[in-house]
Amino acid sequence: MKRNDTNCRPGTAWLRLMPAVLVWLSACAPVAATAGPETPAPGEAAPPPAGAPETEAAAIGEEAPAADSIAELEARLVEMARAVRGPEPEFAPIKPFGVSWSPEPREGHAFSVQVYERPTGRKPVAIDGEFAGKRVRFARHGPRDRWFGVGVVPIGRSDPEVLTLRMTFEDGAVHEQTTRIAVEGTEFPSSELRVDPRYSSPPPEVLERIRRERVMVREMLSKVTREWRPDRPFSAPRPMDVTSPFGQARTFNGELRSRHTGLDLRGLTGAPVHAAAAGRIAFAGELYFAGNAVYIDHGLGVYTGYFHLSRIRVRQGENVEAGRLLGDAGATGRVTGAHLHWYLSVDGEAADASSLLGMRLPD
Ligand SMILES: [Zn+2]
Repeated sequence: MKRNDTNCRPGTAWLRLMPAVLVWLSACAPVAATAGPETPAPGEAAPPPAGAPETEAAAIGEEAPAADSIAELEARLVEMARAVRGPEPEFAPIKPFGVSWSPEPREGHAFSVQVYERPTGRKPVAIDGEFAGKRVRFARHGPRDRWFGVGVVPIGRSDPEVLTLRMTFEDGAVHEQTTRIAVEGTEFPSSELRVDPRYSSPPPEVLERIRRERVMVREMLSKVTREWRPDRPFSAPRPMDVTSPFGQARTFNGELRSRHTGLDLRGLTGAPVHAAAAGRIAFAGELYFAGNAVYIDHGLGVYTGYFHLSRIRVRQGENVEAGRLLGDAGATGRVTGAHLHWYLSVDGEAADASSLLGMRLPD
């Protein structure tokens, strides 16, 4: 923009400033629209309008027509700018929290989320999250400005999802922060059943027991311990020799009848089964389908299960360290041969337990 253009005729020069006015209006509009009290930026002030637009405004004043016309023109230009720009862009202040996750969220897998507080002068007292329709629970962990959480992607969710974090501060104020994250789809293997499962169902006299156990397990897995117990990375309870993967679909006449809710690891009767990580024994006992089973509560809604054991070597309610001998592999419950069925539940959702092995834990 040439300011000292002597060839311009008085009264019309402002028209040539229209592009600058457009730029100025579109630069100012989002700030004006979001500088109100609802701006959700604790500790962050809305940026003042940049210096350049003021200069342009002053330039208009030099040779501009009457104020009324300017107001009218402004209104029209704002409308034009809106039409060109589309809906108001979201005001994006510096987010008061840094977020990282590992590994990349994948369908049927768990992943960890770490939240870092930025020095905004306000301390959150709680953080709660949501991803792919499931809750992501957080606990303070490690250095004082860090939080750790675990999320899960249910089977059937493979599109990008939004991680919503809600932070509650001491004064009761709540800040919401969202991050869009891509989800990797998983190809689950499928096997065709030769016999319709309806004809190989459990006998009627055990149906009540099965129903009772299902309710008990579901209630147990929905309980959330607001503390993260593992202090080092997860390890496999047996060597990772997978005989049947998680999520395998069982079909009959091409119709999905059931899915494998765990990961089968090779293990002859008597082979040792170890705790994948530290936690509290939430259940140790016999179940109709799982046989002799152990569940460990690791905190934040994360549970691992160890099924079909020939012998249980821990007691319900006790705390165990990572690697603790939980029992011996076996063939109890509804199985065709000895193996370990390793189970993972996050926020009540079954997921591939092998995803725990790649999960980054708090530093
Ligand atoms: Zn299994």
